[in-house]
Amino acid sequence: VDLKEQSLNSIIETLFPLIQADAMVSDKNITIDLEEIPDLFLDEKEIRQLILNLARNGFEAMPAGGELKIRTFTVSEETILAVQDQGKGIDRDILDKIGTPFFTTKDTGTGLGLAVCYSIAARHNAEINVETATTGTTFYVRFKILEPKTDSKT
Ligand code: ADP
Ligand code: MG
Repeated sequence: VDLKEQSLNSIIETLFPLIQADAMVSDKNITIDLEEIPDLFLDEKEIRQLILNLARNGFEAMPAGGELKIRTFTVSEETILAVQDQGKGIDRDILDKIGTPFFTTKDTGTGLGLAVCYSIAARHNAEINVETATTGTTFYVRFKILEPKTDSKT
């Protein structure tokens, strides 16, 4: 892991064409809403992988025409990356199994996407939370803000 202080929003913007291509081939839509957030200590390759894995799961969870939303924002001491889909949600009885290596409900799934996300998050000292309902699922990746954003002397 190679952590450098950099912009999460820039990583998302660089990755956008790839996500958009994924959306296009499966007839889904993608919207991005990036707020102004402080730089974080990130490994760019790993963060790209994390976002791609979450985005692909989101696309795979939705019927054609569905919309995936990627957002960044700050809440108190944390910067949050949210990946939200309009799929059918994740059943309660499997919620604690997702992220276990090789656990998949898909015919051709590897069950490795989320496991990789969880280990990437751990290496970034970040946490992943899932909010799911029958109207869709949101994965929240919560990064701790290491330095204050504004000058405290003002
Ligand atoms: P895979 O995508 O190969 O199945 P993952 O580790 O990416 O492996 O996901 C594991 C399982 O978690 C999926 O098979 C699916 O059941 C569930 N899952 C993950 N993301 C979503 C999502 N956005 N909506 C619904 N189910 C999901
Ligand atoms: Mg997957």
